[in-house]
Amino acid sequence: MDRPLTREQLRSAQRLVIKVGSNLVATPEGVVNRDLLASIVSEIAELAAQGRQVLLVTSGAVRLGLAKMGLVGGPKPDLSTRQAAAAVGQVELMACYNELFSAHQCIVGQLLLTGDDLSNRSRYLHLRNTLLPMFSHHEVIPVINENDSVSVEGVQIGENDRLAALIAGKVQCDLLVILSDVEGLYTGDPRVDPEAELLPEVREITPTIEAMAGGSTSGVGRGGMRSKLTAARLATRMGAHTVIALGRLPQVISQVLQGEPVGTIFWAKPQARVGARKQWLGFAAAPRGTLTVDEGAANALTRRGSSLLPVGIRAVEGIFREGDVVSVVVSDGREIARGLVNYPADELRLIAGTKTGQIEEILGYHPYDEAIHRDNMLLY
Ligand code: GLU
Repeated sequence: MDRPLTREQLRSAQRLVIKVGSNLVATPEGVVNRDLLASIVSEIAELAAQGRQVLLVTSGAVRLGLAKMGLVGGPKPDLSTRQAAAAVGQVELMACYNELFSAHQCIVGQLLLTGDDLSNRSRYLHLRNTLLPMFSHHEVIPVINENDSVSVEGVQIGENDRLAALIAGKVQCDLLVILSDVEGLYTGDPRVDPEAELLPEVREITPTIEAMAGGSTSGVGRGGMRSKLTAARLATRMGAHTVIALGRLPQVISQVLQGEPVGTIFWAKPQARVGARKQWLGFAAAPRGTLTVDEGAANALTRRGSSLLPVGIRAVEGIFREGDVVSVVVSDGREIARGLVNYPADELRLIAGTKTGQIEEILGYHPYDEAIHRDNMLLY
């Protein structure tokens, strides 16, 4: 029987990721919230002094850079302006952290990542090798951000909530704390619904829970709650409990670690923990294509844990090679799995919808029965 999940068990968290959003780092005008950052840094330094391993994922580069370049309040910056701003602002951001951590005899180590670094399996593996030595020196705090200056559409990680979750999974953290300008997940939109209540904990991210984070019409409101929920889903599947909490709460990180009921906690299910290779193919790598499957194949995958055969595939989109990661969706576009595909896109298009016995006849060879083998697939 599983141990009941209580917040007290967070006290023993040894390795954790703290994510700080742009709204906490600086005002909309790009002025650094120094006191707030100083208190977050002091809490992190204290945890490191206790022998815990803490990684900081921080946003704010673009905002600080735009301010430094005198571009705040002007027209919405285009991609290359944002990239230039990120290059400028990242220096400001790190100078600030460097100074604040130095006051606690901590050293900062900067890691800037793109989606490509996570998609490329060898680079993704090396990321862990880079981080581990930092952990053995408790005074070194890895400070991580997306490398916005070279991240363009297609290779972008997008949100640091997601980056933080992927890092938490990659280095097997016990806990991810997303510090935000909202208190946690509410049952409705607290700005318009006086009945909306803060949910102290979420054991399973169901469609009802997803609806609480806002429908597709609410845009990026509620402090980007949807991206936080996605991050919580990834991190918990990878074994890290996730807390979303108000960054301005005094001693917020210590409160979380003492088991105080702050924010919303999403419990990880250790028994459902996804192994390292499937973490990469299911969450970190960017899919190169999409396979739409019929109802029968979807059931075989999700209920029986079967492999995906060409006969169940209705449509093949994208340009990919054998061994690439592809996404498996059903007819309404819902993603049910990702996996390593056994055939390149042009061949798969020829054999989609056909029985195994016909593969040889159509392609002239028959290396695999499966389009994606179950061992190379992660079900969502
Ligand atoms: N990486 C961006 C920055 O530092 C922010 C991305 C995010 O807020 O999620 O400005």
